[in-house]
Amino acid sequence: MPELPEVQSVVTSIRSRLLGRTISRVDLRRRDILDPPDFDLAAQITGRTIADIHRRGKRIVFRLDDENQFYIHLGMTGRLSLHKPAVDFASHTHLVFDVAERDGSAVQLRFADPRRFGGVFWLGLSDAAGIMGPEPLTVTPPQLAERLSRTTRAIKNALLDQTLIAGLGNIYVDESLFTSGIHPLIRADKLSKEQIARLNRAIKATLRKAINHRGSTLRDYRDADGTPGGFQKLHRVYGREGDACRICKTAIVRIVLGGRSTHFCPKCQSRGKKG
Ligand SMILES: [Zn+2]
Repeated sequence: MPELPEVQSVVTSIRSRLLGRTISRVDLRRRDILDPPDFDLAAQITGRTIADIHRRGKRIVFRLDDENQFYIHLGMTGRLSLHKPAVDFASHTHLVFDVAERDGSAVQLRFADPRRFGGVFWLGLSDAAGIMGPEPLTVTPPQLAERLSRTTRAIKNALLDQTLIAGLGNIYVDESLFTSGIHPLIRADKLSKEQIARLNRAIKATLRKAINHRGSTLRDYRDADGTPGGFQKLHRVYGREGDACRICKTAIVRIVLGGRSTHFCPKCQSRGKKG
C-alpha cells in the first residue's frame, strides 16, 4: 500500500507538469470510484485550472482556481500516471483527465486501481484534512506525546491510526520503531519522554530517507513517470523475517498485530528497554 513517501513521490512527479494547466476533459469510466458516487465531476471541473497539488496524509489533494478541492486516495493498488493520449489505457483505468500542456498539446493524468480501495473524493470548499492527525514530518515531540497519551493501544497500532498521525503505514512504522529501539507492543501511553523524542526523530529521518529514494516498491508501486522506488533495499526490519538484524545479528521476528504484519528485532527492541 502506498504510504507517505510513495504518495509524496507521486505528487512531486505530477505537480510540475500539471500546475497552472487547464482540465479540458474528464472521462469517468467507473462511477463507483467516485465519492459521492452521483457527483457530476466533469461538469464541476472541466475548464478549471489546477491551482495546487499537495499531499495531506496519504491524500493527493487538487485545488482548482475556484478554490474547490478534491483528493485522490491510492488505496492498496491505485496508481496515477501521465501519458500521451495516444498511449493505450492500462487495465483498470477508471478515470482520465485531459490536461492542456504549455505547448498546446495534451497530456492525460490517468487513475487506475485494480482492487478499487482507492478513489476520488470531492471536497468542495471543505478542509482536506478532515479529522486527520498532524503531519509526521512536522509534528513536534510535545504534540506526539499528547496524542499518544490518549490511547492505551500498542504503539504500532496507534501510529497506524490516521486520526492520531497522518500518512504512516505498516512499512514506515515498523522501520521507525526499529530505529528508535521501541518494541511494537508497548502501550502508546506508557512511552517515556525520551522514547517519544527518539521516535519523533526516527519517524522524520525514516520518511525523509524514503522520500529521497522515491519510496518503496514492494510489488507494483510506481511514481507517475513509471519510476519504481528504491527504499525497499534499505528496509531494516520490514519484510526481513528470519534475516539477521543489521545491528545485532538476531533474527528479525514477524508477528501479526491487528491483522497487519509487524516486524521487529527482539533484542534491539526489547520490551524492558527504557529511556
Ligand atoms: Zn537487533
